[in-house]
Amino acid sequence: SVVYLNGQFMQAAEAKISPMDRGFLFGDGIYEVIPSYGGRCVGFAAHIQRLQTGLAALDIQCAMTVQDWQQLVQQLIQSNGEGNLGIYLHVSRGTDTKRAHAYPKAIAATIFAYAFEISAEPLADTETAPCYKVITAEDLRWQRCHIKSTALLGNVMHHQQAAALGLNECILFDEHGFLTEGSSTNVFIVKDTVVITPPLSHKILPGITRQLLLSILRQHSKLTVEERPVSKHELLIADEVWLTSSSKEVAAVVEVDGLRIGNQRPGPVWQLAQSLFSQYKYEY
Ligand code: PMP
Repeated sequence: SVVYLNGQFMQAAEAKISPMDRGFLFGDGIYEVIPSYGGRCVGFAAHIQRLQTGLAALDIQCAMTVQDWQQLVQQLIQSNGEGNLGIYLHVSRGTDTKRAHAYPKAIAATIFAYAFEISAEPLADTETAPCYKVITAEDLRWQRCHIKSTALLGNVMHHQQAAALGLNECILFDEHGFLTEGSSTNVFIVKDTVVITPPLSHKILPGITRQLLLSILRQHSKLTVEERPVSKHELLIADEVWLTSSSKEVAAVVEVDGLRIGNQRPGPVWQLAQSLFSQYKYEY
């Protein structure tokens, strides 16, 4: 496949980065994954905005403007066939001459991007939709989960807790027993047609799918939507539980810690939410 590295497009096998890159040594970088179907991106502006907020939080200087990113992404999509693609963008602080913790002065950021194949656009079909089975665990990641850092070991380890059991995701709770998010997803619950998700804070990633879904439900449905703390008990007795992410969109959870949710099938509110998401996602 064709990838982008530091200003040039090249074959993936030709892309080389120094082991002294701070992305490699420290996970010192920010990334994004933008879904694209038939050449159209979902939430492009919001993804680039989050990338720029993350770079500013880490004081990483990157000269790319929104237009530069747009051009880069369009070119990557075109050279990779315009199908169902995830566009991975990665900016590390850059390559230093030595390994030292302090931010070095005036090194150029390393910019890498590539496209990978993803599943076709999710459908709001209760018969064919994937049904996720998940476990819960105490959130043992760091306290800056709002930053989309390439340092993902905390997330990777939680994901592996689920994967080792043959399950899809690990849903996390903070030290007070309140829901944060999944290892690579945001979490929603539904009770009596009220849709509830934890509020934004340093404990969760501000997911773009979460943001789009909240806007779409508020604008295009009569459902009550709440951003507020969610306890584990509330999650376990919910009518529906959903995971959201760029590639999954809205995904129904049917089992948590071996206990069934609802009637163990994607529910009616899920069906409405995914169908509205499918209808309006390109408008944001
Ligand atoms: N939380 C975490 C920890 C994630 O890694 C992701 C996926 N990037 C999400 C939530 C979902 O975010 P988005 O909807 O922007 O893909």
